[in-house]
Amino acid sequence: MVKYKVIVDRSACISCGTAPTVCPQVFVLGEDNGKNRVTDDYVIKNTESTSIGIVPENMYECVKRAADSCPVLAIKIEPIE
Ligand code: SF4
Repeated sequence: MVKYKVIVDRSACISCGTAPTVCPQVFVLGEDNGKNRVTDDYVIKNTESTSIGIVPENMYECVKRAADSCPVLAIKIEPIE
């Protein structure tokens, strides 16, 4: 089954809140700096500048909606094996 790597450029994020609103399963504004991060359910690495997660195929549409809605294009999605 295909999985997807989700990469949030937290340095670029302007904390608009859209990502957590359209896909709350995968995104949340971090308590550390108020910027978008991958939720604990899917995160594999989180720093002040970058948040990376792995999501299953059934979360793709959710993540894609958030990425397409981001005003600063801070969310990238890459398929992985
Ligand atoms: S949509 Fe973009 S700018 Fe807005 S919170 Fe999500 S990552 Fe940040």
